[in-house]
Amino acid sequence: MTDVSANLANVQEKIKKRALKWGQDPDKVKLIAVSKQQPLERVEAALQAGHRVFGENRVQEAQSKWPDFRSQYPDIELHLIGPLQSNKSAQAVALFDVIQTVDRPKIAKTLAEEMRKADRQIPVYIQVNIGGEPQKAGVAIEDADAFIEQCRKEYGLQVEGLMCIPPLEEQPAPFFALLSKIAKRNGLEKLSMGMSGDYEYAVQFGATSVRVGSAIFGERG
Ligand SMILES: *Cc1c(COP(=O)(O)O)cnc(C)c1O
Repeated sequence: MTDVSANLANVQEKIKKRALKWGQDPDKVKLIAVSKQQPLERVEAALQAGHRVFGENRVQEAQSKWPDFRSQYPDIELHLIGPLQSNKSAQAVALFDVIQTVDRPKIAKTLAEEMRKADRQIPVYIQVNIGGEPQKAGVAIEDADAFIEQCRKEYGLQVEGLMCIPPLEEQPAPFFALLSKIAKRNGLEKLSMGMSGDYEYAVQFGATSVRVGSAIFGERG
């Protein structure tokens, strides 16, 4: 049996300890509980334990569960952490509170248009392909500064921070440090980095949100 409530407390405690050890403010680290592909009763358990910040990686899947949860728990904060296609942009703008995966002009432009249409300006993060991996989403490191500028100036997006997923088989620390450096030189304060396997390192390197799934909800079905 997965004890979601105990897992949440455990992860929160580890975040706090690591933050304090490295001179980071633990209150500035948001725990995003990644609920993709999890049974609804586990998500419900997190809600009952008082947790309100969640992440989903697919618009369709999120649409199938969150409107119902929202009607029960109006203060839910939902982050899109997976790749977005432009034909899902309107739905994403209506459903999510933060979109963390803006990584190319086409999607930036479409999102800006949909936000205008819906009269709903939501913050976005730019996803950076921090390991330069061909199969991964994210803007290339060398294009990041220009793309951030373009999102702000040309599209008028409210760019709040950067998001990354470091290469699986490598030490994550240098990638977290690099993301932090790119954020700083662009005047961005938010850093979404760290998953179940490496969130403590991410906190050490200044993450303001960590995206933790299996360490809270157990293995995905
Ligand atoms: C699934 C997912 C996570 C959570 O992964 P876990 O290893 O289960 O913590 C975090 N970030 C993104 C982008 C994901 O797709």
